[in-house]
Amino acid sequence: MKGEISIIGAGLSGCEAALQLAERGYQVKLYEMRPNRQTEAHQTGLLAELVCSNSLKSTRLDTASGLLKAEMHILGSILLPIAQDCNVPAGHALAVDRSLFATRITAEIEANPQIQLIRQELTCLPEGKVIVATGPLSSKAMMHHLVSLLGEDHLFFFDAIAPIIDADSIDLDKVYAKARYDKGEPDYLNCAFEKEEYYQFVDALLEGEKHEAHEFEDAFFNGESFKFYENCIPIEELARRGKDTLRHGVMRPMGLEVPATGKKAYAVLQLRAENTDRTAYNLVGCQTMLRYPEQARIFKLIPGLEHADFLRYGSIHRNTYLNSPLILNENLSLKARDDVWIAGQLSGVEGYMECIATGLLIAGIINGEIDSLPEVTILGQMWRRLITLQPKQSFSPVNANFGILPALVDPPRDKKLKRNMLCARSIQAMSSAFSEALDAEPELQESERNSPAPAETTL
Ligand SMILES: Cc1cc2nc3c(=O)[nH]c(=O)nc-3n(C[C@H](O)[C@H](O)[C@H](O)COP(=O)(O)OP(=O)(O)OC[C@H]3O[C@@H](n4cnc5c(N)ncnc54)[C@H](O)[C@@H]3O)c2cc1C
Repeated sequence: MKGEISIIGAGLSGCEAALQLAERGYQVKLYEMRPNRQTEAHQTGLLAELVCSNSLKSTRLDTASGLLKAEMHILGSILLPIAQDCNVPAGHALAVDRSLFATRITAEIEANPQIQLIRQELTCLPEGKVIVATGPLSSKAMMHHLVSLLGEDHLFFFDAIAPIIDADSIDLDKVYAKARYDKGEPDYLNCAFEKEEYYQFVDALLEGEKHEAHEFEDAFFNGESFKFYENCIPIEELARRGKDTLRHGVMRPMGLEVPATGKKAYAVLQLRAENTDRTAYNLVGCQTMLRYPEQARIFKLIPGLEHADFLRYGSIHRNTYLNSPLILNENLSLKARDDVWIAGQLSGVEGYMECIATGLLIAGIINGEIDSLPEVTILGQMWRRLITLQPKQSFSPVNANFGILPALVDPPRDKKLKRNMLCARSIQAMSSAFSEALDAEPELQESERNSPAPAETTL
């Protein structure tokens, strides 16, 4: 027997971690507050309930989500094959029958002799080894406890994410590198607007179709917690405050004259590198609640981004997560208590699969099987993001996207080929690092078999 471990929260990350650790001989105490106390989004008492979409995103090996799944197969994820068993037809996406999926996982946990499921809200961390997996809707009492342990500045209550685009899709004949007033390094790329272009962009923002906020998010954003929201207003809301608000604020052109002409632009939108290889750029100030197709249409009105390839769309929603790079050790345990690990959305990853992946990763870390992951993998880079301070940027949640991977040594121009090569490189690295796990060949679902898997992949 390996010893005892408490896991708080039987959602996606908590269930993956519990089953993984049970399989390795740990005695797991798994605490879940539902159905006694519900969150604002969960509907049932089932474990691993999906709170919104039933899609776990693409299975194609030339997408970042598909690549993350392939990496998780190699590491032996338990929830992923269950999801595949519960799939419903959805093209190349892995969509599940949510009730079947949650029922299957609940049954596996309840039947597991190594796991004691305790239906109780924990309001503070217990003694001994603990994984906190209470998710984006962690109970208030637990949030207060974490604030008292870690400090108020280290707990965030919403996401405000600006879109991220592929560097190769930026028109470098139009966009220029320059620091404001030429002070410091020219780290930012600048997109200069003529007057007419600027007002066309503002009008498009005003008319763009938005995501509906969940009822509880409406209350959150407009109620007592408004001060958090005020720090990061969606770009379309700023535009609504006045047609010139943006060019007097986040898009102000002062000190950013166009080098070729020396002329002051009417407005300038800046792009900030997302990684040291500069393969991806963030549209500064463009956090938004616009629907994804609207973002693709409207942000392409920005001069120089007419052919932008979006690696990740912008969003704003209610989400509790920690300032992980400041408070976590390299092994994802708390600096304040190194026998406590943080998993799932609370750790600063975003998305169903990403949350499951952290449960898998932390179980491997705790059991001593994983002390690092290849840096060319999606999961390896997500892990790195959680523990690396980003200069000049506040920490925002990370999901599977190609922008987080290091650049290829000699990248081809062809986008599809480039993605195939990134996937092949990652799978090869993960396979050779964890070759034993590969002996149990992953079962691919039909959609994976039929999808045009890139020739270079080795899975
Ligand atoms: C409204 C909403 C919609 C989302 N939609 C999507 C989507 O469509 N696609 C996507 O990929 N991602 C989505 N996400 C993001 C994220 O992937 C999911 O929230 C995911 O379920 C998070 O996994 P988790 O393991 O971190 O937490 P969860 O799966 O939420 O699990 C946390 C568990 O902890 C329990 N708990 C909380 N506090 C305590 C406590 N003190 N004691 C005991 N138990 C506790 C909760 O009841 C819950 O069961 C959404 C998030 C939200 C908030």
